[in-house]
Amino acid sequence: MKPFDYQRADDADSAIATVSGDPEARYIGGGTNLVDHMKLGITEPEKLVDITRLPYDSVETLPDGGVRVGATVRNSDLAASHVIRQRYPVLAQALLAGASGQLRNLATTGGNLLQRTRCSYFQDTSTPCNKREPGTGCSALEGWNRYHAILGASEHCVATNPSDMAVALAALDATVLVQGQRGQRRIPVTELHRLPGDEPERDSVLEHGELITAVELPAPSENARSAYRKVRDRASYAFALVSVAAVVEVSEGAISHARIALGGLAHKPWRATAAEEALRGAPATEEAFRDAAEAELAEARTLRDNAFKIPMTRNTLSAVLRELTRQEGA
Ligand SMILES: Cc1cc2nc3c(=O)[nH]c(=O)nc-3n(C[C@H](O)[C@H](O)[C@H](O)COP(=O)(O)OP(=O)(O)OC[C@H]3O[C@@H](n4cnc5c(N)ncnc54)[C@H](O)[C@@H]3O)c2cc1C
Ligand code: SF4
Repeated sequence: MKPFDYQRADDADSAIATVSGDPEARYIGGGTNLVDHMKLGITEPEKLVDITRLPYDSVETLPDGGVRVGATVRNSDLAASHVIRQRYPVLAQALLAGASGQLRNLATTGGNLLQRTRCSYFQDTSTPCNKREPGTGCSALEGWNRYHAILGASEHCVATNPSDMAVALAALDATVLVQGQRGQRRIPVTELHRLPGDEPERDSVLEHGELITAVELPAPSENARSAYRKVRDRASYAFALVSVAAVVEVSEGAISHARIALGGLAHKPWRATAAEEALRGAPATEEAFRDAAEAELAEARTLRDNAFKIPMTRNTLSAVLRELTRQEGA
């Protein structure tokens, strides 16, 4: 690993000034993604600014009934939080489906959102990869692409976003709070990550030096039920092949409201707006669940090794909707 400077930030303004003013500086949260990349030579920052002592380590209930999660809250603490388990089960389940207990004890909210793709070519510096080295090509297009995208991909990159937490946050309509040298901004989590287009090296809309300070969850509706389901190659310690986060309300046997996000399918957590539209007002039946999945997957484009994701998404989405609507006695 290349030598680097390390400093612990005492206040946000100076941390932001340091990173913003130096293209070779990076924030470090738990380090569970960044340090791996430094060891692999994917990124070689000259300066790390540790933000874990900043006062962003609490989960607070807001006056409007929502919740603010600080950017340095550890994934294990967030999953164990009483208010999250009670009011946002989809988020607690997604967190517990991610990584291992040891990793969750270190991983932070901000770092989890900004972790990079697990595409094996991205991680192998001996292979071409447009995300790692723009203009070199995409090895996954014609290579091993079992884990890769079927929605929203481009000829430049077919990588998927690996975060389980971000999929739940997309279904919850969360907002990401960001602070930079030009002040604060609020970004809907569904707009934080980018599709690859012709700039796959850019994962998110953040500018260099912008710091995630918190994530806000809107107040949950009284009647909403939510769940996260992840399909993976083994029971623990594996990234999603397909995952589904859903928040659903049922009234008199019909779906009055549905917010759905899909993981493992795209360069960003994929908000399934076509499926939501198909479900609005539909009876809570197997046929309606399948129609919703078909509507969402109409634009899917599969690669050599990942056509299985189409039936897997259809089945997983149906299973989650079945589970949530049964809870309502539909
Ligand atoms: C073996 C293994 C298995 C895993 N399995 C899963 C899994 O199944 N599901 C899953 O979701 N994840 C999984 N992970 C990934 C893990 O969840 C992430 O590594 C972790 O969430 C990243 O958080 P961190 O705080 O350690 O980030 P860091 O490594 O510290 O940072 C990641 C990136 O975010 C930036 N950053 C960090 N905090 C901020 C901030 N507040 N503002 C701006 N930029 C910031 C850093 O500069 C860096 O670029 C796995 C990881 C490993 C090693
Ligand atoms: S899919 Fe994206 S990350 Fe993977 S090799 Fe292609 S360009 Fe690189």
